[in-house]
Amino acid sequence: MSPGTSFLQTRHGPLPLPAFLPDATRAGVRAVDAADLRAIGVPGVVVNTFHLMRTPGTRLIKLAGGVHRFMAWDAPVLSDSGGFQVYSLIRQNPSSGVIRPNEVLFREPTTGEKWTLSPERCIQAQFQLGSDVIMCLDDCTSAEDPPDEQAQSVERTVRWARRCRAEFDKLCAGAARGETRPLLFAVVQGGASEALRRECAGALTAIGFDGYGFGGWPIGADGGLLSDLLQMVAEATPATSPRHALGVGRPDHVVRAAALGYTMFDCSLPTRDARHHRLYTFHPGRDRGPFVPGEPFYETVYILDQQHANDFGPVDPSCDCPLCSHYSRAYLRHLFRVEDVTAERLATLHNLRFYVRLLDALR
Ligand SMILES: [Zn+2]
Repeated sequence: MSPGTSFLQTRHGPLPLPAFLPDATRAGVRAVDAADLRAIGVPGVVVNTFHLMRTPGTRLIKLAGGVHRFMAWDAPVLSDSGGFQVYSLIRQNPSSGVIRPNEVLFREPTTGEKWTLSPERCIQAQFQLGSDVIMCLDDCTSAEDPPDEQAQSVERTVRWARRCRAEFDKLCAGAARGETRPLLFAVVQGGASEALRRECAGALTAIGFDGYGFGGWPIGADGGLLSDLLQMVAEATPATSPRHALGVGRPDHVVRAAALGYTMFDCSLPTRDARHHRLYTFHPGRDRGPFVPGEPFYETVYILDQQHANDFGPVDPSCDCPLCSHYSRAYLRHLFRVEDVTAERLATLHNLRFYVRLLDALR
Protein backbone atom coordinates (compact mmCIF):
# COMPACT_ATOMS: atom_id res chain seq x y z
CA MET A 1 0.00 0.00 0.00
CA SER A 2 1.43 3.38 -0.94
CA PRO A 3 2.46 5.76 1.87
CA GLY A 4 -0.09 8.32 0.63
CA THR A 5 -3.08 5.97 1.03
CA SER A 6 -5.93 7.48 3.02
CA PHE A 7 -8.16 5.42 5.27
CA LEU A 8 -11.66 5.45 6.65
CA GLN A 9 -11.29 4.49 10.32
CA THR A 10 -14.00 2.03 11.34
CA ARG A 11 -14.78 -0.15 14.36
CA HIS A 12 -13.40 -3.10 12.39
CA GLY A 13 -10.17 -1.48 11.32
CA PRO A 14 -9.11 0.98 8.63
CA LEU A 15 -10.67 0.79 5.17
CA PRO A 16 -8.08 1.92 2.58
CA LEU A 17 -9.58 4.44 0.14
CA PRO A 18 -10.64 4.30 -2.59
CA ALA A 19 -12.34 0.95 -1.96
CA PHE A 20 -14.67 -1.29 -3.88
CA LEU A 21 -17.00 -3.24 -1.57
CA PRO A 22 -18.72 -6.32 -3.02
CA ASP A 23 -22.41 -6.75 -2.29
CA ALA A 24 -23.06 -9.30 0.44
CA THR A 25 -26.75 -8.38 0.16
CA ARG A 26 -28.14 -11.10 2.44
CA ALA A 27 -24.99 -11.34 4.62
CA GLY A 28 -23.17 -13.44 2.05
CA VAL A 29 -21.38 -12.87 -1.23
CA ARG A 30 -22.89 -15.50 -3.50
CA ALA A 31 -20.71 -18.58 -4.15
CA VAL A 32 -17.88 -17.54 -1.79
CA ASP A 33 -17.44 -17.23 1.98
CA ALA A 34 -15.63 -14.81 4.27
CA ALA A 35 -12.40 -16.84 4.27
CA ASP A 36 -12.39 -16.74 0.45
CA LEU A 37 -12.89 -12.96 0.50
CA ARG A 38 -10.08 -12.43 3.02
CA ALA A 39 -7.68 -14.57 0.99
CA ILE A 40 -8.03 -12.36 -2.11
CA GLY A 41 -7.77 -9.08 -0.18
CA VAL A 42 -11.39 -7.83 -0.24
CA PRO A 43 -11.34 -4.90 2.23
CA GLY A 44 -15.04 -4.78 3.21
CA VAL A 45 -18.55 -5.72 2.15
CA VAL A 46 -21.99 -4.11 1.80
CA VAL A 47 -25.04 -5.81 3.31
CA ASN A 48 -28.63 -4.73 2.72
CA THR A 49 -30.75 -3.70 5.71
CA PHE A 50 -34.11 -4.10 3.95
CA HIS A 51 -33.36 -7.66 2.78
CA LEU A 52 -31.94 -8.70 6.17
CA MET A 53 -34.99 -7.26 7.96
CA ARG A 54 -37.11 -9.58 5.82
CA THR A 55 -34.88 -12.66 6.14
CA PRO A 56 -33.67 -13.75 8.67
CA GLY A 57 -34.59 -10.57 10.63
CA THR A 58 -32.10 -8.17 12.17
CA ARG A 59 -33.15 -9.29 15.67
CA LEU A 60 -31.87 -12.79 14.89
CA ILE A 61 -28.58 -11.38 13.61
CA LYS A 62 -28.21 -9.38 16.83
CA LEU A 63 -28.82 -12.62 18.76
CA ALA A 64 -26.05 -14.25 16.69
CA GLY A 65 -23.69 -11.54 17.94
CA GLY A 66 -24.02 -9.15 14.99
CA VAL A 67 -23.49 -9.48 11.27
CA HIS A 68 -19.69 -9.82 11.56
CA ARG A 69 -19.93 -12.88 13.79
CA PHE A 70 -22.91 -14.24 11.83
CA MET A 71 -20.90 -14.34 8.58
CA ALA A 72 -17.45 -14.77 10.22
CA TRP A 73 -16.16 -11.54 8.69
CA ASP A 74 -13.94 -9.30 10.83
CA ALA A 75 -13.35 -6.41 8.38
CA PRO A 76 -15.57 -3.35 7.75
CA VAL A 77 -19.26 -3.85 6.93
CA LEU A 78 -21.37 -1.09 5.38
CA SER A 79 -25.14 -1.53 5.51
CA ASP A 80 -27.23 -0.02 2.77
CA SER A 81 -30.56 1.27 4.08
CA GLY A 82 -32.66 -0.54 1.51
CA GLY A 83 -34.27 2.66 0.20
CA PHE A 84 -33.28 1.73 -3.35
CA GLN A 85 -34.68 -1.82 -3.07
CA VAL A 86 -37.96 -0.66 -1.54
CA TYR A 87 -38.35 1.88 -4.32
CA SER A 88 -37.55 -0.69 -7.04
CA LEU A 89 -39.95 -3.29 -5.64
CA ILE A 90 -42.82 -0.83 -5.21
CA ARG A 91 -42.17 0.64 -8.66
CA GLN A 92 -42.27 -2.84 -10.23
CA ASN A 93 -45.33 -3.88 -8.29
CA PRO A 94 -47.33 -0.97 -6.80
CA SER A 95 -49.46 -3.38 -4.73
CA SER A 96 -46.35 -4.38 -2.73
CA GLY A 97 -46.27 -1.14 -0.79
CA VAL A 98 -46.53 2.61 -0.56
CA ILE A 99 -44.03 5.36 0.28
CA ARG A 100 -45.71 7.71 2.78
CA PRO A 101 -44.46 11.09 4.06
CA ASN A 102 -43.11 9.53 7.27
CA GLU A 103 -42.41 5.88 6.42
CA VAL A 104 -42.61 3.11 3.89
CA LEU A 105 -45.41 0.57 4.20
CA PHE A 106 -44.39 -2.75 2.66
CA ARG A 107 -46.50 -5.84 1.99
CA GLU A 108 -44.72 -9.17 1.52
CA PRO A 109 -45.74 -10.43 -1.94
CA THR A 110 -45.90 -14.09 -0.85
CA THR A 111 -47.40 -13.95 2.65
CA GLY A 112 -49.24 -10.62 2.52
CA GLU A 113 -47.60 -9.70 5.84
CA LYS A 114 -47.37 -5.92 6.30
CA TRP A 115 -44.57 -4.02 7.96
CA THR A 116 -43.23 -0.49 8.01
CA LEU A 117 -39.78 0.93 7.45
CA SER A 118 -39.32 4.33 9.09
CA PRO A 119 -36.10 6.33 9.40
CA GLU A 120 -35.90 5.37 13.10
CA ARG A 121 -36.59 1.68 12.47
CA CYS A 122 -33.98 1.65 9.69
CA ILE A 123 -31.27 3.00 12.03
CA GLN A 124 -32.31 0.64 14.84
CA ALA A 125 -32.04 -2.32 12.45
CA GLN A 126 -28.54 -1.28 11.38
CA PHE A 127 -27.51 -1.06 15.05
CA GLN A 128 -28.87 -4.60 15.48
CA LEU A 129 -26.66 -5.67 12.58
CA GLY A 130 -23.66 -3.98 14.21
CA SER A 131 -22.58 -2.32 10.94
CA ASP A 132 -19.50 -0.12 10.81
CA VAL A 133 -21.02 2.30 8.29
CA ILE A 134 -24.75 2.99 8.57
CA MET A 135 -26.81 4.58 5.79
CA CYS A 136 -29.74 6.95 6.28
CA LEU A 137 -33.06 5.88 4.79
CA ASP A 138 -33.62 7.91 1.62
CA ASP A 139 -36.53 8.32 -0.78
CA CYS A 140 -35.11 7.06 -4.04
CA THR A 141 -36.29 8.14 -7.49
CA SER A 142 -35.32 7.39 -11.04
CA ALA A 143 -34.01 10.07 -13.43
CA GLU A 144 -37.19 9.79 -15.56
CA ASP A 145 -39.58 10.55 -12.68
CA PRO A 146 -41.44 13.89 -13.04
CA PRO A 147 -39.98 17.06 -11.43
CA ASP A 148 -42.59 17.27 -8.64
CA GLU A 149 -41.74 13.73 -7.53
CA GLN A 150 -38.02 14.60 -7.57
CA ALA A 151 -38.64 17.67 -5.42
CA GLN A 152 -40.77 15.64 -3.00
CA SER A 153 -38.04 12.96 -2.83
CA VAL A 154 -35.42 15.57 -1.89
CA GLU A 155 -37.66 17.10 0.79
CA ARG A 156 -38.36 13.63 2.23
CA THR A 157 -34.74 12.46 1.95
CA VAL A 158 -33.52 15.49 3.93
CA ARG A 159 -36.30 15.24 6.52
CA TRP A 160 -35.69 11.49 6.95
CA ALA A 161 -31.92 12.06 7.18
CA ARG A 162 -32.52 14.50 10.06
CA ARG A 163 -34.63 11.86 11.84
CA CYS A 164 -31.95 9.22 11.14
CA ARG A 165 -29.28 11.54 12.59
CA ALA A 166 -31.38 12.05 15.76
CA GLU A 167 -32.02 8.31 16.22
CA PHE A 168 -28.36 7.52 15.53
CA ASP A 169 -27.20 10.08 18.14
CA LYS A 170 -29.69 8.69 20.68
CA LEU A 171 -28.48 5.10 20.18
CA CYS A 172 -24.81 6.19 20.33
CA ALA A 173 -25.50 8.06 23.61
CA GLY A 174 -27.02 4.87 25.02
CA ALA A 175 -24.08 2.66 23.99
CA ALA A 176 -21.66 1.19 26.53
CA ARG A 177 -18.93 3.56 27.71
CA GLY A 178 -15.80 3.28 25.61
CA GLU A 179 -17.58 1.60 22.71
CA THR A 180 -16.52 3.10 19.38
CA ARG A 181 -19.50 4.44 17.48
CA PRO A 182 -20.32 3.42 13.91
CA LEU A 183 -20.25 6.01 11.11
CA LEU A 184 -23.38 7.53 9.58
CA PHE A 185 -23.66 8.37 5.88
CA ALA A 186 -26.46 10.30 4.15
CA VAL A 187 -27.57 9.83 0.55
CA VAL A 188 -27.99 12.67 -1.95
CA GLN A 189 -31.08 12.41 -4.19
CA GLY A 190 -32.51 14.79 -6.79
CA GLY A 191 -32.71 12.67 -9.94
CA ALA A 192 -31.23 14.34 -13.00
CA SER A 193 -31.82 17.89 -11.70
CA GLU A 194 -28.63 19.77 -10.86
CA ALA A 195 -30.57 22.29 -8.76
CA LEU A 196 -32.24 19.57 -6.66
CA ARG A 197 -29.01 17.62 -6.26
CA ARG A 198 -27.26 20.79 -5.06
CA GLU A 199 -30.12 21.62 -2.69
CA CYS A 200 -30.10 18.08 -1.25
CA ALA A 201 -26.30 17.98 -0.84
CA GLY A 202 -26.32 21.40 0.84
CA ALA A 203 -29.11 20.49 3.29
CA LEU A 204 -27.47 17.17 4.23
CA THR A 205 -24.08 18.83 4.69
CA ALA A 206 -25.70 21.38 7.01
CA ILE A 207 -27.04 18.53 9.21
CA GLY A 208 -23.59 16.91 9.14
CA PHE A 209 -22.68 13.28 8.40
CA ASP A 210 -19.53 11.15 8.34
CA GLY A 211 -19.88 10.55 4.60
CA TYR A 212 -22.18 11.17 1.64
CA GLY A 213 -23.57 8.83 -0.98
CA PHE A 214 -24.72 9.57 -4.52
CA GLY A 215 -28.15 7.92 -4.64
CA GLY A 216 -30.52 6.99 -7.41
CA TRP A 217 -29.52 5.30 -10.62
CA PRO A 218 -26.01 6.60 -11.56
CA ILE A 219 -26.17 5.54 -15.23
CA GLY A 220 -27.70 7.60 -18.05
CA ALA A 221 -29.93 6.35 -20.89
CA ASP A 222 -26.82 5.94 -23.12
CA GLY A 223 -25.27 3.51 -20.60
CA GLY A 224 -22.66 6.06 -19.52
CA LEU A 225 -22.00 7.36 -16.03
CA LEU A 226 -23.82 10.60 -15.07
CA SER A 227 -20.43 12.29 -14.71
CA ASP A 228 -21.60 15.92 -14.57
CA LEU A 229 -24.10 15.19 -11.79
CA LEU A 230 -21.61 13.06 -9.87
CA GLN A 231 -19.04 15.84 -10.10
CA MET A 232 -21.53 18.47 -8.97
CA VAL A 233 -22.53 16.42 -5.91
CA ALA A 234 -18.86 15.77 -5.10
CA GLU A 235 -18.22 19.52 -5.17
CA ALA A 236 -21.29 20.21 -3.02
CA THR A 237 -20.21 17.83 -0.21
CA PRO A 238 -17.23 18.28 2.17
CA ALA A 239 -13.87 17.46 0.57
CA THR A 240 -12.72 15.79 3.79
CA SER A 241 -15.62 13.28 3.89
CA PRO A 242 -15.71 9.98 2.04
CA ARG A 243 -18.08 9.97 -0.92
CA HIS A 244 -19.81 6.76 -1.90
CA ALA A 245 -20.99 6.22 -5.48
CA LEU A 246 -23.79 3.75 -4.71
CA GLY A 247 -24.19 1.04 -7.32
CA VAL A 248 -21.04 2.02 -9.29
CA GLY A 249 -20.12 -0.30 -10.95
CA ARG A 250 -18.36 -1.15 -14.09
CA PRO A 251 -14.53 -1.00 -13.90
CA ASP A 252 -14.31 2.01 -16.26
CA HIS A 253 -17.10 3.75 -14.30
CA VAL A 254 -15.17 3.20 -11.05
CA VAL A 255 -12.08 4.80 -12.63
CA ARG A 256 -14.13 7.78 -13.82
CA ALA A 257 -15.99 8.27 -10.52
CA ALA A 258 -12.70 8.01 -8.59
CA ALA A 259 -11.30 10.82 -10.76
CA LEU A 260 -14.37 12.90 -9.81
CA GLY A 261 -13.66 12.55 -6.07
CA TYR A 262 -15.55 9.38 -5.07
CA THR A 263 -13.73 6.99 -2.76
CA MET A 264 -16.24 4.20 -2.08
CA PHE A 265 -18.03 1.94 -4.54
CA ASP A 266 -20.29 -1.09 -4.38
CA CYS A 267 -22.05 -3.09 -7.05
CA SER A 268 -23.37 -6.58 -7.66
CA LEU A 269 -21.95 -6.49 -11.18
CA PRO A 270 -18.62 -8.39 -10.74
CA THR A 271 -20.20 -11.27 -8.81
CA ARG A 272 -23.26 -11.46 -11.06
CA ASP A 273 -21.10 -11.32 -14.20
CA ALA A 274 -18.91 -14.11 -12.79
CA ARG A 275 -21.93 -16.38 -12.34
CA HIS A 276 -22.96 -15.53 -15.91
CA HIS A 277 -19.61 -16.63 -17.39
CA ARG A 278 -18.17 -13.10 -17.84
CA LEU A 279 -14.65 -12.53 -16.53
CA TYR A 280 -12.67 -9.31 -16.48
CA THR A 281 -9.08 -9.25 -17.71
CA PHE A 282 -6.59 -6.38 -17.83
CA HIS A 283 -5.14 -5.51 -21.20
CA PRO A 284 -1.56 -6.82 -21.23
CA GLY A 285 0.70 -4.55 -19.17
CA ARG A 286 -2.21 -2.38 -17.97
CA ASP A 287 -2.87 -4.02 -14.59
CA ARG A 288 -0.88 -1.44 -12.63
CA GLY A 289 -2.34 1.62 -14.30
CA PRO A 290 -2.20 4.50 -14.71
CA PHE A 291 -5.92 4.46 -15.39
CA VAL A 292 -7.16 7.44 -17.35
CA PRO A 293 -10.94 7.98 -17.69
CA GLY A 294 -11.99 7.11 -21.23
CA GLU A 295 -8.87 5.03 -21.96
CA PRO A 296 -9.66 1.30 -22.27
CA PHE A 297 -7.72 -0.92 -19.87
CA TYR A 298 -9.68 -4.17 -19.61
CA GLU A 299 -11.92 -6.51 -21.51
CA THR A 300 -14.62 -9.02 -20.66
CA VAL A 301 -13.98 -12.67 -21.56
CA TYR A 302 -17.07 -14.79 -22.19
CA ILE A 303 -15.71 -18.11 -21.04
CA LEU A 304 -18.32 -20.30 -22.82
CA ASP A 305 -17.09 -19.12 -26.24
CA GLN A 306 -15.77 -21.99 -28.35
CA GLN A 307 -12.35 -20.34 -28.66
CA HIS A 308 -11.64 -21.16 -24.97
CA ALA A 309 -12.41 -24.88 -25.31
CA ASN A 310 -8.78 -25.85 -25.84
CA ASP A 311 -7.12 -22.80 -24.29
CA PHE A 312 -4.93 -24.19 -21.52
CA GLY A 313 -3.63 -20.82 -20.40
CA PRO A 314 -5.07 -18.85 -17.44
CA VAL A 315 -7.99 -16.41 -17.77
CA ASP A 316 -5.58 -13.53 -17.07
CA PRO A 317 -1.82 -14.28 -17.00
CA SER A 318 -1.22 -11.22 -14.79
CA CYS A 319 -3.74 -12.40 -12.12
CA ASP A 320 -2.79 -14.18 -8.89
CA CYS A 321 -6.30 -15.36 -7.88
CA PRO A 322 -7.04 -19.04 -7.06
CA LEU A 323 -8.52 -19.53 -10.56
CA CYS A 324 -5.63 -18.07 -12.56
CA SER A 325 -2.98 -19.57 -10.25
CA HIS A 326 -4.12 -23.15 -10.82
CA TYR A 327 -6.60 -23.56 -13.66
CA SER A 328 -6.97 -22.92 -17.36
CA ARG A 329 -9.70 -21.23 -19.40
CA ALA A 330 -10.52 -24.67 -20.81
CA TYR A 331 -11.03 -26.12 -17.32
CA LEU A 332 -13.27 -23.25 -16.12
CA ARG A 333 -15.32 -23.49 -19.33
CA HIS A 334 -15.69 -27.24 -18.74
CA LEU A 335 -16.82 -26.73 -15.11
CA PHE A 336 -19.47 -24.22 -16.21
CA ARG A 337 -20.68 -26.54 -18.97
CA VAL A 338 -21.17 -29.47 -16.58
CA GLU A 339 -22.79 -27.06 -14.06
CA ASP A 340 -20.24 -27.72 -11.33
CA VAL A 341 -20.83 -25.07 -8.61
CA THR A 342 -17.05 -24.72 -8.22
CA ALA A 343 -17.07 -22.74 -11.47
CA GLU A 344 -19.15 -19.97 -9.85
CA ARG A 345 -16.81 -19.80 -6.87
CA LEU A 346 -13.63 -19.61 -8.97
CA ALA A 347 -15.10 -17.07 -11.42
CA THR A 348 -16.38 -14.91 -8.53
CA LEU A 349 -12.97 -14.97 -6.84
CA HIS A 350 -11.31 -13.95 -10.10
CA ASN A 351 -13.62 -10.98 -10.75
CA LEU A 352 -13.38 -9.75 -7.15
CA ARG A 353 -9.58 -10.08 -7.25
CA PHE A 354 -9.64 -7.98 -10.45
CA TYR A 355 -11.37 -5.18 -8.46
CA VAL A 356 -8.95 -5.52 -5.54
CA ARG A 357 -6.02 -5.13 -7.96
CA LEU A 358 -7.72 -2.24 -9.78
CA LEU A 359 -8.35 -0.34 -6.54
CA ASP A 360 -4.81 -1.08 -5.27
CA ALA A 361 -3.46 0.45 -8.48
CA LEU A 362 -5.83 3.44 -8.22
CA ARG A 363 -4.43 4.18 -4.74
ZN1 LIG B 1 -7.69 -14.52 -11.74
